[in-house]
Amino acid sequence: MSQSTQQILIIEDEPSIAELIAVNLTHAGYAVSRAMQSDEALSMLTTQAPDLIVLDWMLPGKSGVQFAKELRANEKYKDIPILMLTAKGEEVDKVTGLDAGADDYVTKPFSPKELIARVKALLRRYSVASEEGPLIVGPMSLDAITHRIAIHWPNQDVKNLALGPTEFRLLNFLMANPERVHSRANLLDHVWGNEAYIEERTVDVHVKRLRAALAPFDCDQFIETVRGSGYRITKTPLSQ
Ligand code: CA
Repeated sequence: MSQSTQQILIIEDEPSIAELIAVNLTHAGYAVSRAMQSDEALSMLTTQAPDLIVLDWMLPGKSGVQFAKELRANEKYKDIPILMLTAKGEEVDKVTGLDAGADDYVTKPFSPKELIARVKALLRRYSVASEEGPLIVGPMSLDAITHRIAIHWPNQDVKNLALGPTEFRLLNFLMANPERVHSRANLLDHVWGNEAYIEERTVDVHVKRLRAALAPFDCDQFIETVRGSGYRITKTPLSQ
């Protein structure tokens, strides 16, 4: 994916905005295709899978959020990074957008420079993850590209763990930055995005959910609460 021209699919029903994005991405060296709504996008996806999708939140027919969810649920398309476009006033819904499977978002009106920067960052994030292979902590191995988490305790069969999108991103971030203590604010920044309109206790809710999902595999012990500071993932849990 490094040598050939990267393909970006823009799904946006407002022609002027679609044009603005297309012109700027083309200038930045990307190959661009465009769809006005999700049906059209879906038929384009079957002929060529893009490296990234720029997806507008408000589309006629199926909303961008709904479409992101469907892509994430589809084995063929679930690994394509999605950059979502939101309008001002949809602040609270950004969390919904990220939960639906968008990887990042840009708020309208945006500068082309910002958009390009986000696109580049997202493509880099995905390519770095694939080059480095899965993240490993204890018996857990997480592959950010395939969205797979495998648990392999010695002398046991490998088991697969399914997580919701937020719990997945949370575990992904913790495993990418092990041993360090992360404050709730820090986790909000990295897992939810720094403009997310949510309270710090939301972090506790999702850590609790993550632990509950890990508990049947005896892996909840790797996530430690550090009193007064936050959370961390460790290869050497105290409870072991
Ligand atoms: Ca729109």
